[in-house]
Amino acid sequence: MHDLVIRNALLVDGLGSAPVHGELGFSAGKIVEIGKAKGSYKETLNADGLALMPGIIDNHTHYDAQLTWDPLASPSPALGVTTAIIGNCGFTIAPCRPAGRDLIMRNLTQVEGMSIEVLRSGIAWEFETIPEYFAMLERRGVGLNIAGFAGHSSIRSFVMGEDASRRAASDAEIEAMRRIVLEAVRAGAIGFATSTSPAHNGEGGMPMPSRLAEERELRALVGSLKEAGRGLFMLTKGGQTKMAFLEELAADSGRPVVVAALLHNSTSPGVVFDDLDAIAAANGRGRRMAGAISCCPLSFDFTMRSPYPIESLDAWKRALGKKGDAMKAVLADPSFRQGIRDELARPATFRLFNGEWDKVQVVETVRRENAHFEHRTLAELARASGRDPIDIWFDLALDEDLDTVFIAQTLNSDEAALAKMLRHPASLVSLSDAGAHLTFFNDAGYGLHLLGHWVRDLQVLSLEEAVRRLTSHPAEIFGIRNRGALKPGYCADLLLFDPAAVNRGPKKRVLDLPGGGARLATPPIGVHGVWVNGTRIADEKGMRPLDRLPGQVLREFNG
Ligand SMILES: [Zn+2]
Repeated sequence: MHDLVIRNALLVDGLGSAPVHGELGFSAGKIVEIGKAKGSYKETLNADGLALMPGIIDNHTHYDAQLTWDPLASPSPALGVTTAIIGNCGFTIAPCRPAGRDLIMRNLTQVEGMSIEVLRSGIAWEFETIPEYFAMLERRGVGLNIAGFAGHSSIRSFVMGEDASRRAASDAEIEAMRRIVLEAVRAGAIGFATSTSPAHNGEGGMPMPSRLAEERELRALVGSLKEAGRGLFMLTKGGQTKMAFLEELAADSGRPVVVAALLHNSTSPGVVFDDLDAIAAANGRGRRMAGAISCCPLSFDFTMRSPYPIESLDAWKRALGKKGDAMKAVLADPSFRQGIRDELARPATFRLFNGEWDKVQVVETVRRENAHFEHRTLAELARASGRDPIDIWFDLALDEDLDTVFIAQTLNSDEAALAKMLRHPASLVSLSDAGAHLTFFNDAGYGLHLLGHWVRDLQVLSLEEAVRRLTSHPAEIFGIRNRGALKPGYCADLLLFDPAAVNRGPKKRVLDLPGGGARLATPPIGVHGVWVNGTRIADEKGMRPLDRLPGQVLREFNG
């Protein structure tokens, strides 16, 4: 007797085939039949014509810390994600000796938008090395399948201590890092991840350690993937990192290379397509490269205590890491404001924030007399008052002890451009950043957004193509075995949903992190069931209570 047969479903196989009505049966966590089920089953579920697809493989998450206190990686599984790749951008928590923990947490709090209190009260430090971290996840259990990168910034801090954010590495230090990457990949890391993005800063505005790496360091570390004969290289690219250099790494190592974060910038709209075209051309020369794009507009909720969208401006450097009165003094300084105006007036190829005042809005004011600012953009307020948008912005924040909440829709908001990116042969649908930036945004529901907004509402992609983009496509790029398709022998990672309703719900602020920390939540809409390795973890009412955690730590990948 097999376990469960789902009847009367619209089967979307993840491979891009046209959807067909049929049945799917599984047993002991593996799909046994698809199409017409002939075996006998202990249980039957009538899907009433709902769509059944493989579970979403979220290839860009940051659950490394959260998984040690929340093995379910909330909210991703409720949003249809059955496999998550962690350690992106190289922001891991392993390797780490006890003496290095504080530095790792201080770096993460800034770059990932988690408070230091959350990290201090949350992280279980039952490991030092990367293999020990994976072993800990296995011992404690995970609610969904997890694959993890060896992370450059943590490896650099492990080898170089506080110097990791200050200088280039010596030959001996590069050799020590190379051995750690090699050991990690042999123990089951999915690859090596790094960031050269100027948006990535640690405590007090110190650059994240990986940003200090010279090209020879990257060459050596990516070279260890070649030596291991496994693993892929993922990088979040700053504007100074050239695509030709990344192609060289792909060619020398023979390993796949995933380039993030390719976001559309309305003030330099061609750049993202130049990058995608360069990747497509490299693939034409035999490389295996993909450009990680997002199907969501990038918007940040923030206060002027930590205004992520503008923190990567050079002119902001004077304010980085400042708190309270020191921050207020900088914000009030007319020459500081002028510096920001001057910088925004200069064109830039990659910049998170570009002075698009119609895309910065006041969300929530503190003082009653300022309530009339709410839900208005800085462009509107500037037009109405004849004042400069930066003066309006900073003066309002100063008037409210820096607690005014703003939202900035910085990048990726041009739908025609996004449609073109989604259809580009070199693009990989990615960048949920789930588990990070918790107070700024939450795109963990990117898969439901793709199915609702881009498939149903805008008809930019067919249902079967969108499902392929969320499942077998990332599985193929990342070498994930026996997942990402509805096929006999494949793991029973499944998502049952209503194509007419599917969506991600409105954002709301909840206080459920360790120690009561805040994050933005977004509920699923139209999800009727999620299975991980044959265990149903969610139904139409949301997550179910579980008597055991059904996820696996994935350690073996296709070449
Ligand atoms: Zn990231």
